[in-house]
Amino acid sequence: MGNITEIFGSLVFNDTVMKDKLPKDTYKKLKSTIDNGEPLSLDTANIVASAMKDWAIERGATHYTHWFQPMTEVTAEKHDSFISPTVDGKVIMEFSGKELIKGEPDASSFPSGGLRATFEARGYTAWDPTSYAFIKDNSLYIPTAFCSYGGEALDKKTPLLRSMEVIDRQAMRILRLFGNTTSKKVVSTVGAEQEYFLVDKDLYDRRKDLIFAGRTLFGAKPPKGQELEDHYFGQINPRVSAYMKELDEELWKLGVLAKTKHNEAAPAQHELAPIYTTTNIATDHNQLTMEMMKKIALKHNLVCLLHEKPFAGVNGSGKHNNWSISTDDGINLLKPGKAPYDNPQFLTFFCAVIKAVDDYQDLLRISAASAGNDHRLGGNEAPPAIVSMYIGEQLEEILEAIEHDENYAQKKKEKMQVGGVHVLPTFTKDTTDRNRTSPFAFTGNKFEFRMLGSTFSISEPNVVLNTAVADVLEQFADELEAADNFDEALHKLLQRTIKEHKKIIFNGNNYSDEWIEEAEKRGLHNLKSTPDALAHYIADKNIRLFSKHGIYTETEMRSRYEILLENYTKILNIEALTMVDLVKKDIIPSVSEYSKSLTDAALAKKSLDASINTDAEVDLIKKLSSLLSTLSADTKELEKALCDAKALKEDIVKYADFYHDSVLSGMNLVRKSVDEMEENTAYDFWPFPTYSELLFSV
Ligand code: ADP
Ligand code: MG
Repeated sequence: MGNITEIFGSLVFNDTVMKDKLPKDTYKKLKSTIDNGEPLSLDTANIVASAMKDWAIERGATHYTHWFQPMTEVTAEKHDSFISPTVDGKVIMEFSGKELIKGEPDASSFPSGGLRATFEARGYTAWDPTSYAFIKDNSLYIPTAFCSYGGEALDKKTPLLRSMEVIDRQAMRILRLFGNTTSKKVVSTVGAEQEYFLVDKDLYDRRKDLIFAGRTLFGAKPPKGQELEDHYFGQINPRVSAYMKELDEELWKLGVLAKTKHNEAAPAQHELAPIYTTTNIATDHNQLTMEMMKKIALKHNLVCLLHEKPFAGVNGSGKHNNWSISTDDGINLLKPGKAPYDNPQFLTFFCAVIKAVDDYQDLLRISAASAGNDHRLGGNEAPPAIVSMYIGEQLEEILEAIEHDENYAQKKKEKMQVGGVHVLPTFTKDTTDRNRTSPFAFTGNKFEFRMLGSTFSISEPNVVLNTAVADVLEQFADELEAADNFDEALHKLLQRTIKEHKKIIFNGNNYSDEWIEEAEKRGLHNLKSTPDALAHYIADKNIRLFSKHGIYTETEMRSRYEILLENYTKILNIEALTMVDLVKKDIIPSVSEYSKSLTDAALAKKSLDASINTDAEVDLIKKLSSLLSTLSADTKELEKALCDAKALKEDIVKYADFYHDSVLSGMNLVRKSVDEMEENTAYDFWPFPTYSELLFSV
């Protein structure tokens, strides 16, 4: 690999390339579209398209694709070549402004939740110039938004772009009130830390559950798990290291700011964190990161598992959404500065986030809800299903002082002496410690929303955050703009906000049982499962929030609600069917064969000499036979539940509840017998690789 600074962004049609390849006035026009949302004329689009095409062809591209993010967790693409026939039977390479701006994929097979009957299959993709085009696999990728013929959003990018505009508008009003006349724009920024597992491909290929469900549906605990805590930040082994190196390089070429890599808590688990960027680009880049993680793994005969809970008994994978808001001229609005007590602007934005998180706990929880993530939230490895905020001791004291009109004696920043050893440098202690158990933690100059599952698009959580905070900022701005005495009005506003919303602040251990009781006393939501959480999605206040700010219409929300519930049932259905299939075709035959070999062995011993003791064989045969009978009955029950579910299909809420209450619990029973059988069956007879092999082979 050459120089990193040279390869970085080498496959991206970024600002430098635009400046270089576009005529000056075209560049200027495109820039004002990107920065200020000015409309772009078709003439300008034609020039941009042609320059993009030439640049892409020079780099080996033959096709272009509108790249979009439908209501699945993955991206979609359809490739068209640049060729255009000429009269002499040859072709030339063409790409027009029209093709750049608009695409018309047949939309009938993407989830739409009733927004679009299949006969109205028309869908449009529209170029999003705020996220750069790039080249991958010999195609020019154009990031686009995806909507229906009637203009309803069918994707995850459209609402995100809408929410970014809303928070920009409302945050600017607050900034102007504080006398800021220089900033032109406020953007929300995100850095998404991504966790994943790597397993050997040969082993993966023998696990149908991993292939169909992305997680193991069976698997007894290996003798060693993560109890020694020797994997977290441990040395990276050469095979994984080679993978990470290639991943970094490919991401850098695509302009993704891959920064940190390390081993995570569970065996075979790792993490990659990028440097933050604007929310829209961070979302696109996180999608690219997940895609590259999977693709590059195959080149190393590995498979990258992004599922939230690939293995029971060890940590699952999440995604930490670090979020802040900054101005176009580089002011981080959530930076407390040296004296947060004397920084009313910071306190205003900070309190706005507190109120937003409290008012929209349910939406934040929903934005992290999925069948996969249900295995994590509340499982003592990830934050619980209760949304609360950690703000650290210092800020809590400051808020208390404001609430009670007390003086806050600014605490001196303490110098920290590392381990008391004098040769090591001293450095200033952070004003907040870390709290790993909090779902929503203030970490110095940003909030870290930790509930997200590892497979998620980060779009929805940020749509909720941007919109909820914008809504509060709007209320603040309305009140403050109307005030005669700004300082007094602000003081009252902050005091009231703290009083009403401090219940969402919790600096203690979120994993403890006491917190669950305490949260209930405080009246916080504890939405344990996806169906529980989703029920709140279409609450009046939430429909009001999104429709008021033009993020989703009520129709769009109802369709999304349906898609999410349906998706939940589909996932459980696939998992249950895979279980049944494995039990019947692999597990019962294998265990039965093992029992037979034990029986043969015992009989042979007896025929050799009737006094030879065969208790061990007999005990084991009895045990396995009894487990087989339980398993067989439980599997029949599970099959019956799947059958019964069908009758409820017309009522999506009942249908989803049934999957949660009956199918999932049936699956747990089936798993229990199988895992116990695995513990009692010889390796040679077990039909697929065990946890020991999967977790410790790479
Ligand atoms: P910490 O020490 O709190 O873990 P890091 O600097 O390691 O902080 O950052 C963790 C993640 O947060 C990184 O992805 C980083 O880019 C991101 N991050 C840092 N500052 C911001 C910000 N202002 N807005 C959004 N994300 C940020
Ligand atoms: Mg983190």
